[in-house]
Amino acid sequence: MLTISDLFDLSGKAALVTGGGIGIGQAICRRLAEAGASVMIADINIDAANETAELINQNECISRSCKADASLAAHAIQAVDDTIEAFGSIDILINNAGIYPASPFTETSKELWDKVIGLNLSGPFLFSQAAAQAMIKAGKGGKIINMASVDGIRPTGYMAHYNSSKGGVIMLTKALALELAPHNILVNALAPGGILTPGTVVTGEEMTKITGKTLEVFAGEMGNRMPLGRMGEPDEVARVVLFLASKLADYITGEVIVVDGGYLLK
Ligand code: NAD
Repeated sequence: MLTISDLFDLSGKAALVTGGGIGIGQAICRRLAEAGASVMIADINIDAANETAELINQNECISRSCKADASLAAHAIQAVDDTIEAFGSIDILINNAGIYPASPFTETSKELWDKVIGLNLSGPFLFSQAAAQAMIKAGKGGKIINMASVDGIRPTGYMAHYNSSKGGVIMLTKALALELAPHNILVNALAPGGILTPGTVVTGEEMTKITGKTLEVFAGEMGNRMPLGRMGEPDEVARVVLFLASKLADYITGEVIVVDGGYLLK
């Protein structure tokens, strides 16, 4: 029987994390590296990706960074190639990069719709395809973990474009899990609730424009709507990603794990 530390051990595994420069993605990179994985941090913001890589490497863990726009097919192929070149394989893909600009439905432009769908839904399609092709060629299986959202399960307003993208991520997860299972590639998703990240601060400013509420009022209301009475921390999402990436979850595929402090219960 494997020991608890064996079950968490990701030594010898190479992970690619999109949007790993800040927020939830950064927390994921740190946990995967701590568990022994070599981590490629792919972010459109290369300075943030470099800073995260430095932080990780200071702790005697292994990471590299690359600039990638997660909505572009060519960047998906390049990031997978960069991971294999740096670490010899790609075993874990975390499709984390995403944006969530608020906009009332009747005022949402086609440009905004395309931008949100292009990154949040087409991005996981493109990166999963590039990674799955490499994983199948290597013949060692793999894990793909997609960042969905409670907004992909239940809408809250001003986010029809985002709700649609994350609902799509949930169905993409299930479809890929079915199709890639014969290759022992496991595909799962997380659906976080409100998590305090740099991105939610920016969105708080947008929220103020649209709803007239300050971030504090908005965050307080969000917190009050959660049975646990607070928003989540990025690491509370990263720990569940670590679980799915580890041997603890080797018989789970096509699932969506909700990490929301009970938000969907109300
Ligand atoms: P964040 O805005 O704090 O960080 C996002 C990261 O993605 C940044 O490093 C940014 O540079 C990068 N990024 C943005 N556009 C990119 C692109 N085109 N290509 C590559 N990288 C890009 O975001 P976050 O709050 O940490 O959210 C991360 C993921 O979790 C997103 O998919 C988001 O939808 C999802 N999520 C967040 C929350 C929350 O409350 N924060 C809740 C549910 C789901």
